[in-house]
Formats: sequence, structure tokens, C-alpha cells
Amino acid sequence: MNTKPRGRQFFANPGPTNIPERVLRAMDRSVIDFMSDEFVAIHHACHAGVKRVLKTDQTLYMYNASGHGAWEASLANLFTAGDTVLIVETGYFSLSWAEMATSLGLKVEVFAADWRKGADISKLADHLKKDKTHEIKAVLTVHNETATGMVLPVADIRRAMDEAKHPALLLSDTISSLGSIDYKMDAWGVDVTVGGSQKGLMLPTGMSLTGVSDKALEVARKNKAPRHYWNWDLMNGRSPQKFMGTAPVHMFFGLQESLKMLEEEGLEAVFQRHGRLAEATRAAVRVWGDGGKGPQLFCQSDDRLSNSVTAVLMPEGVSSDPLRKAAIDRFNLSLGGGLGPLMGKMFRIGHMGDLNEPMLLGALATTELAMKVSGVPFTPGGVDAAIKSLTA
Ligand code: PLP
Repeated sequence: MNTKPRGRQFFANPGPTNIPERVLRAMDRSVIDFMSDEFVAIHHACHAGVKRVLKTDQTLYMYNASGHGAWEASLANLFTAGDTVLIVETGYFSLSWAEMATSLGLKVEVFAADWRKGADISKLADHLKKDKTHEIKAVLTVHNETATGMVLPVADIRRAMDEAKHPALLLSDTISSLGSIDYKMDAWGVDVTVGGSQKGLMLPTGMSLTGVSDKALEVARKNKAPRHYWNWDLMNGRSPQKFMGTAPVHMFFGLQESLKMLEEEGLEAVFQRHGRLAEATRAAVRVWGDGGKGPQLFCQSDDRLSNSVTAVLMPEGVSSDPLRKAAIDRFNLSLGGGLGPLMGKMFRIGHMGDLNEPMLLGALATTELAMKVSGVPFTPGGVDAAIKSLTA
């Protein structure tokens, strides 16, 4: 049998995600001078648009780099080797950011959490109150942990920091929530927001950003730690674009279009669409795992379920590798895998960005098909449950 996949690839990986035709077409044009008036105007419009998505009136910097670059920019500007940061554990990405901090010479404390239940934020204020000499310079959070499909209540974390009267900065990674799940940088008192291009912003990978509060800018200004490419002060001097190096004009052509799409739909409607599609996905997974023999939702806290990615835990002793291999090799469906200690133990369905009901139902139906051909035990009927959820 010829099993070479045909037709469009169904991309249900939690990032990079589907790039809409409109964005691709907007990028399909000749280069322009990045110092030209035309590009400066596009750049300004994009800055303003991204700030509306972040819900901030403060300062934004963008980088020619994937999300790791924005992670490093936040750490390099604010801290000096020997400084202590507290990371709220969420899963693989929180630990990866912590690992980067350690590599940069920072001391990292971990506010530990069960990855399936999420951190107990009611204990955070007490934890911070014990730090009487304010050694902790920042609390690092991952708003949406892509590896576990869980959101973190960032506003509650700010409240806990205020309750403890702790002056630490609050940093938040929104790489897999920005443009998919509501996020309010200024209202939540976040000092640095880290974002990337390839998920809710519906662009190729390669551009990332930091929203920076006035308080964080002041800390950065006083920080003597060596840095160059990420240096916000140097970037401020790069008039008119505040961009280090050659600006990726095509990314901005795409960003201008994706911001237009987000604003045409309306951010609130975008978040509601993600909520509907996520709930349908969860409805399917709940049926698959019904009776306890099939795959189940990894996240065990109903109020923390992510609306941009669903992490699905495999039954004990069943690897997710053959299922994901069947999905991609035979049916052209790309599913995410487990990361770090969860490798082989889960698969992840991304439902963020440019996605609608037929795309999601296609991915769910094909996941059932791939489970069937790869011998994964599950209760059939997940797709029916998803349809029911979408018509509710
Ligand atoms: N943080 C989160 C929450 C992520 O999901 C990712 C990547 O998926 C990253 C950080 C790293 O970003 P990048 O792969 O763009 O460097």
C-alpha cells in the first residue's frame, strides 16, 4: 500500500502553529529598506498592536530570536551573576527558563509544584515573607505551560507578592498564551512579559519580544552586568526602530496582517474561540479515557486547563511514540509529544492561533484513527463528544 501522505498537513502541534494564508500572502513581497519611512510606519503600527495584545502602555522590545532570546533578554537586562530568582514550577518550560538563569550565574529557587495539579499559590505569600532581606530579585512565571497544558493565575501571584510586601519583579512567559488566552500585563502588575511569534501571533518562528514595565526599565538601567545584543538601553538608542541589527521586515509584514486579523475578530472573540475549541478537545479526551483504560487529561485542576494546548497522558505502560508516528507518517497529522520526563508518556494537541471547528475535528478524528491503528486502548466516541460540546 502506498502510504505517502497527501493533502494538507493537519498541524495540531502546540507551536509553531498554522500560519494563515493572509499572513503568508502579506509576507510574499519584495524587501524594503528597513530605514525607509514605509517600514518605520509599519514598525510603529506593529509595536502599538502588540502592546494592545499584551494590554500594556509600557515599553516593548522585539528581537531576531526565538522565545529563548526573549527569555535571555529579560534575565540579562535585569540581573547580575549571584542574584537570586524564584521560579514558580509549572513543568518543562519553567525548568528550562530556570536552567538558563543558572547558566547565566543566577541562583535559582524553585517554588515547587505537582505538574498535574499546579503550584499552590496560596502558599506563595508565606514563602516570600520568609525572605526578609529581599534576596529574591524576581518571581519567574510561565503563564501557560505548553508542556503540561496548564495556565498559572498570574494575577494571584501578583496579589501574593503584594500581600508579602515583597519588592521582587514579576516576570511572565506568555509564549503559548499570547493572542490565545487573555493576558493583562499592566492590570496584573507584570514587570516583564516574554512572548514569541510562532504561536498565537500566527507567524513563523524567529521573532520574540519583551514588554517591560517602567520599574523593570529602572532596574535594568542600574544593572552593570555585561550584555550587548539584548541591552535595552542600547536598543533605545537605535533610532528610529529600537531594533538591534537588521529588522526582519518580512516578519513585520506578517505581524501587521496577523494583528489586523486579531483585531478584526476582536481579542475577546479570539479568546472565546480558543475556549470553545479547547473545551471540545477536552470533551473528546474525557471520552477516550472514560473507564480508566484510555488516555486522560494530564491537568487535574479544572480551573487551570489551558485553552491553547491540551496535554494527554497515555495509559500506564503505553508509549505515545507509535501513535504520533502513525499520525504523522500515515495521516499527515502533526501532534506534539511529551517533553523532558514526560517524553513518550503523553501527546499534546495544540489548538491555538488560526484554527476553526473543521480543523480541530479533523485533528481529533485522526487522533482516534491513529490510536486505533497503533493499538492504544481508548473508549470510542470522542469526536461525537467534541461535536456535542461545539453545538452546546
Ligand atoms: N516558553 C514556552 C512556554 C514555550 O512553549 C516555548 C516553546 O515552545 C519556549 C518558552 C521556548 O521558545 P522558543 O522555542 O521559541 O525558543
